[in-house]
Amino acid sequence: MIIALSGLAGSGKDPEPNASDKKRFWEGVVKRGPSDCWLWARSTRNGYGRIHLGGRAGKSVSCHRLSFRLAHGYWPKKMVLHSTQCVSKLCCNPIHLREGTHTENMEDRDHAGATARGDRLAKKLSSKIVRDIRKQYASGAASHRQLGKKYGVSHTMIGFIVRGDWW
Ligand SMILES: [Zn+2]
Repeated sequence: MIIALSGLAGSGKDPEPNASDKKRFWEGVVKRGPSDCWLWARSTRNGYGRIHLGGRAGKSVSCHRLSFRLAHGYWPKKMVLHSTQCVSKLCCNPIHLREGTHTENMEDRDHAGATARGDRLAKKLSSKIVRDIRKQYASGAASHRQLGKKYGVSHTMIGFIVRGDWW
């Protein structure tokens, strides 16, 4: 699916990311395999990752646009679209992102359902919950299965979380 980013097309006013912005950005992205979705695990707005660039005088930008900027060396002039294999709008894997057109976006809006499911999962597992899960598992207080039941996700997902594969 290709995802709408109305109003987020390049304004030409985006600040250039400095070294500390880049570091903070990549610290917030959970990288998996080269072709997997790399999900942003920090603040979001309207389902998209947001990060503040350039200190106090800077401004906040969406994370997948920043990922595009870092990969290609320029701010995209158009909307940045996610690939059809993305599980969430939080994905920041540069190879899943490309510049697209408004028309493409409208044509593919029907496919947004799968993305919404990925977002619900991401929301369900906020970073605080992930920390709690890891703490409980590390203390030996609960098994994968018990934690899965408690937080309403599969025990496989709990396995991902405690190993740090996902979040
Ligand atoms: Zn992706």
